[in-house]
Amino acid sequence: MTDFSDQPVAILMSGGDAPGMNAFLRAFVRLGLNRHGVPVLGVRDGYRGLVRASRGLESGAEELVNLKQEILRIPGQQGLINGRQHLILMDHASVSGIMGKGGTILGSARCLEFHEPGVRAKAVEMLKQLGVRAIVVVGGDGSLTGANRLAEESGLQVIGVPATIDNDLQFTEMALGVDTAVHTLVWAVDHFIDTARSHRRVMVLETMGRASGDLARMGALASGAEMVITPEPGPLTDEKMEELAARIEGGMTRGRAHAIVLVAEGVNFDPPQARNRAYVLMDAFQKYFQRPGSPFSDLEVRPSVLGHLQRGGHATPQDCILAARFAERAWKEIMNPEGANGITAVRQAQVELVPFGSPPMPERTAFTAEMDALNRDLSHW
Ligand code: ADP
Repeated sequence: MTDFSDQPVAILMSGGDAPGMNAFLRAFVRLGLNRHGVPVLGVRDGYRGLVRASRGLESGAEELVNLKQEILRIPGQQGLINGRQHLILMDHASVSGIMGKGGTILGSARCLEFHEPGVRAKAVEMLKQLGVRAIVVVGGDGSLTGANRLAEESGLQVIGVPATIDNDLQFTEMALGVDTAVHTLVWAVDHFIDTARSHRRVMVLETMGRASGDLARMGALASGAEMVITPEPGPLTDEKMEELAARIEGGMTRGRAHAIVLVAEGVNFDPPQARNRAYVLMDAFQKYFQRPGSPFSDLEVRPSVLGHLQRGGHATPQDCILAARFAERAWKEIMNPEGANGITAVRQAQVELVPFGSPPMPERTAFTAEMDALNRDLSHW
């Protein structure tokens, strides 16, 4: 690109990082350059980068000329290294060797200011002054809500790409990063099982997932965890926790020697608890096992909060393939003169573009119930 008449497409990653973001960036940049001959402008640190770059233009036309010159003068890898540059013209080399790398080389961020319409308007104004033909937003629920605002307000074409390990976006069967996070969870369970087996223990592992139990549910199904506790059935009372402890004890009575319990971070308690779920459950279970006359009074419970371990790591082939398919679908819409706004989504294993604000897929709800039933029946002793 030698000037801005080529009308670049802007791309940003926002909110929680997810494995597969880099694979998407690579596919998107390469398809832009190789297939469509359209340059791609990477935005550093999500909406924050947009806001900061647009703030630099507040004092007039000269700043716009400077910004354009900087973008053209310091492209690709050099631009990525130059931490002060918010907009980077991506070239082939800048996305080389990043395919499976976790996180995002563009950087991601949360940006509270982007909730303000005036701040968004300035960002849009800047994108228009740069001749940007469309913007692609890669991220989770919040980021895609921000993208929807942009689509409603700007007149720019806006394409969202779901990327979150939480799998809490109900309009798509899968988001980027979910497959990798499930793999990581299975790996973690495999490690904890060694100790649980050797010491005949109960291990309570707290997973991520925000308000959704999907990651825990899929992790349990893939790892064979003995129990999975998800937020969807409602808050855990003391009675419910006793019931769960009694179920574990029942398994022990029938010959089970250890148990892995996955609890999703979205699980709430009634009455509410300030501590991590894994610790609350440890105390409740331990209290039950140590009641007078208990057959397993020496059964030990150990908690662990897996936390950000689940967000990082090398993206699985499935996430990399999904990234390429999402990138292709995004370009198809951008290159269509009648192209719409929307979010790439997986439906019945096909990649589609669905409108912003699409309702939950009924199949997702059904699948959740099926997974719960499978987990229950597969782990029963
Ligand atoms: P995620 O995309 O992982 O769900 P967040 O919910 O933190 O992460 O959202 C990421 C960013 O998206 C926010 O920091 C904000 O910049 C933007 N965003 C979220 N919700 C809105 C909204 N309602 N309007 C405008 N921007 C939003």
